[in-house]
Amino acid sequence: KLRKNAASQFLFFEKPMTRAIQEKIATERELRRALEKGEFVLYYQPQIQLDTGTVTGMEALIRWNHPEKGLISPYAFISVAEQTGMIIPINEWVIRMACQQTKQLLKDFPNLSVSVNLSPYEFENRRFVHKLVKLLDETGLPPHHLDLEITERMTMDTERAITILKRLKSIGVTISMDDFGTGYSSLSYLTDLPIDRLKIDRSFVQNIQGKKEAILPAIIRLGHNIGVKVLAEGVETEEEVAYLKDKCCDEAQGYYFAPPLSYEDLIEFLHEHHYKKLYV
Ligand code: C2E
Ligand code: MG
Ligand code: MG
Ligand code: MG
Repeated sequence: KLRKNAASQFLFFEKPMTRAIQEKIATERELRRALEKGEFVLYYQPQIQLDTGTVTGMEALIRWNHPEKGLISPYAFISVAEQTGMIIPINEWVIRMACQQTKQLLKDFPNLSVSVNLSPYEFENRRFVHKLVKLLDETGLPPHHLDLEITERMTMDTERAITILKRLKSIGVTISMDDFGTGYSSLSYLTDLPIDRLKIDRSFVQNIQGKKEAILPAIIRLGHNIGVKVLAEGVETEEEVAYLKDKCCDEAQGYYFAPPLSYEDLIEFLHEHHYKKLYV
């Protein structure tokens, strides 16, 4: 009787697990097919320097243009891509495309730089540095026009992170700490990490009141005290822009300025913005 119970319990637990694994394998196969068929696209969200109003660069954000389902958000597939290792070829595609398209934009907008999001697996891979050098060389984008976004969870082993970051920085690219404030980085080690910019997570930027009012200006000062630039993410309102300017935040990114744009719409935005800057 006991054995029979154990067996049925085993079956009870096994079934949903098998299905989850099968789904993951199916998604992996779909991601590989999507890459081969050229179904991924990059959208770009402009980053604005707050004191001058100029566009300093843009963040490359991937979307999956699925033949039946339409544009799919990275939230729906990046995690599976990371778990299956598909993130490696996908992000290689992202970096190559971002470098190619930014290289084109430099003809008209010579100061732009492009930010790409890294994944933990990639960050720790020794061969990544070589791949990056190859991609920069292949696309002809000067390294200081490429910014790599990392997250706090990638720097939890601080000594190791310093070594990896120094190696990356020796190429000439810049480093931004993405979603700052939501991770687990030890503040005492922040000064030791060779980063160029803090990107404050939008949870500290939106609905500035109460606790947030105490935290946002403190993060901006913290960034400036350790000698890095500070960018506010998820800026949606005029009030938020005014507040950030008042607190001397360097840059901002968010729906107030522009949502992530297709490459064609980005070009239009850049020309329009440039024109407005010249005539007002
Ligand atoms: P993230 O790097 O923090 O990117 C910012 C996300 O906030 C983007 O979502 C963007 O569309 C959204 N956002 C921008 N402005 C606003 C705003 O004013 N309000 C609100 N509510 N949201 C705003 P998206 O494009 O869906 O990307 C989600 C996440 O997926 C990214 O978060 C990043 O972690 C990841 N991701 C995107 N592209 C890539 C990629 O090429 N490689 C890797 N490894 N991860 C990527
Ligand atoms: Mg990012
Ligand atoms: Mg972010
Ligand atoms: Mg964020």
